[in-house]
Amino acid sequence: MSTRTREIHLARRPVGRPVPEDFSLVEVELPAPGPGQVLVRNTVLSVDPYMRGRMNDTESYVEPYALGAPMEGGAMGEVVASEDPSLAVGDVVNHMAGWREHALLDAREARRVDASRVPASAYLSVLGMPGLTAYVGLTRIGRLAEGEVVHVSGAAGAVGSLVGQMAKLLGASHVTGSAGSAEKVAWLTDELGFDAAYDYRDGDLVGQLGTALGGRRIDVYFDNVGGDHLEAAIEHMADFGRIAACGAIATYDATEPPPGPRNLTRVVQRRLSMTGFIVTDHRDAASEFYRTVGDWLAEGRLSFRETFVDGLENAVEGFLGLGTGGNTGKMLIRL
Ligand code: NDP
Repeated sequence: MSTRTREIHLARRPVGRPVPEDFSLVEVELPAPGPGQVLVRNTVLSVDPYMRGRMNDTESYVEPYALGAPMEGGAMGEVVASEDPSLAVGDVVNHMAGWREHALLDAREARRVDASRVPASAYLSVLGMPGLTAYVGLTRIGRLAEGEVVHVSGAAGAVGSLVGQMAKLLGASHVTGSAGSAEKVAWLTDELGFDAAYDYRDGDLVGQLGTALGGRRIDVYFDNVGGDHLEAAIEHMADFGRIAACGAIATYDATEPPPGPRNLTRVVQRRLSMTGFIVTDHRDAASEFYRTVGDWLAEGRLSFRETFVDGLENAVEGFLGLGTGGNTGKMLIRL
């Protein structure tokens, strides 16, 4: 029996900030699964900043999205029909065929997860790609040592909110963060244990960061934003400090390459290193990550928040909300 369902296609390549007309909601008919296949009813979809890059037809670490085809992205779902012995109807699975209500997959493309102790959505946030990004960025890229000072931009987002908490759990002596509203700042300091945080929309990034640091210098800067956030952090880096270059969301909609930090001479003066990384190169860290983060969650030492937007028809709006700070913690689409 076939299944009538809906998916979101990239209709044309956005120029600058995407607009709803760059996407289309398309009805399709999926055939019943063939041998080795499963049909999954998606329950939660991930929307992530990196997807903006895949909408461009430019050389990158991952293929551009095709036009007129469903976009890809992390998703959780429930197996509703299976023609493979490895998965049964009712299994909760994680896979990459997001941006759609149903996915017809080869069974090996779907990973069964245990959703009895955490909500399935956690595999798209704290126990998924954002969690591993935070963990790898701090431990392997930032090489955080006990007693060091950490600063993270985009601190109230999926990755950033975990970076600050994990830094404390890994022994950082002082953790600061920047975010885009007073409510987010209060969440960071009052609930997540950041030592200080500030609202970058109040301006004077160098001054505000200096106040948050209280005379300290940054050993590890976890950069999610780039642009003037990076420049401000460089100004406050300690000698031999490390910058984990995770993302530069302030520049993703730029139509011209943005100017670099004006204070790069500091890299020499302070003997800084800056290392870009992509989480998918670090799958070998996954078992250590699950063990460590699983323990922190079970002990109640790590918390996470998710912002849900309901319905596939609102998925584009949810994605666009990433660029305007519409999320606290992980932005997810609930179907
Ligand atoms: P977030 O949950 O942090 O969502 C994006 C947030 O960025 C928004 O909520 C908004 O919060 C902030 N933001 C948006 N535009 C700006 C701007 N112009 N200036 C400052 N802040 C802005 O997303 P993720 O946690 O998923 O991703 C965070 C970063 O990490 C991104 O740069 C992403 O590309 C990168 N990333 C990199 C990976 C890798 O492997 N290297 C893997 C995963 C993510 P606010 O209200 O504070 O403005």
